[in-house]
Amino acid sequence: MERRDFIKRLAFLAACPLCVKTAYAAEGVHWSYEGESGPEHWGSLSKENSACSSGSQQSPLDIRGAIKADIPGLALNWKSGGTILNNGHTIQVKATPGGTLRRGDKPYELVQYHFHAPSEHLVEGKRFPMEVHFVHKHAETGALGVLGVFLVPGAANTTFASLAAAFPQKAGDETALHYVDPRGLLPTSLKYWAYEGSLTTPPCSEIVDWMVAIDPTEVDVADIKRFTALYSMNARPALASNRRYILSSS
Ligand SMILES: [Zn+2]
Repeated sequence: MERRDFIKRLAFLAACPLCVKTAYAAEGVHWSYEGESGPEHWGSLSKENSACSSGSQQSPLDIRGAIKADIPGLALNWKSGGTILNNGHTIQVKATPGGTLRRGDKPYELVQYHFHAPSEHLVEGKRFPMEVHFVHKHAETGALGVLGVFLVPGAANTTFASLAAAFPQKAGDETALHYVDPRGLLPTSLKYWAYEGSLTTPPCSEIVDWMVAIDPTEVDVADIKRFTALYSMNARPALASNRRYILSSS
C-alpha cells in the first residue's frame, strides 16, 4: 500500500473503528467464511465473483484418485524476509521480490504466502489443522502457481514459530520481517499433487496451477493456536472436481 493511501486509511479507521475488518477485508466487496457473506454466497455478492458459483474448475478439492504421472520436479529459490500483514481474512507475508519457483521449464515468482485453518484441501476426506499457500505469478502469462503445504502438530518449526511471534494482532496491521526464511516451511520431500483450479477466495478466478505437497510439515501446536486465536476458520469448503485429473509425482 502506498504510504499516502495508508495514512488516508488510518484516518478513516480512526473515524470508524468498527469498519476495520471490512476496510481491510475487501479490496472489493465484503466477504467472509460464514453467514450471508460466506462461501455459498460469494458468487452473488458481486459480478466479479461470479466464478465462485458458476465456475467448473474451482478450488480447493478433496484430493482422491490421483494418477501417478511423470510431472516436472519443483525447484525453489525463495528469499528471506518480507513484511507480515493481518489482512482481515488471514495472516499474509508479502515476499521479498525475486524469489522463484520453477516447475519444469515454467518459471514463477513468489508474491506472497498466507495461512488457512483448517486446511482447505482434503486428502481422501481428511482435513489437516492448517495449510500454507505460496502464491507465485508467471511473469509473462500472469497465471498463478500456488504451492500448498499442510501443517500438522509435531516438532516446533523455526520459521513458523518466528512468524507466529510476529502475527499482527489487528486487521490492517503490518510489520517488517527480518531473516525469516519461508523455505523452512517446506517438507523434506517435494513430491506433490497437481491439478488446474482457482483462487480459493473471491473472485475465485480459474487461473491457478495448483501444486499440493504430499508430505506435511510439522509445527508446534502452540504456534497453531496463535493462528487460530486470530482466525479459527478461514477455509473454503472443498468443491466438485468435475472430472478434473489430479496428477501425483509419486
Ligand atoms: Zn489460500
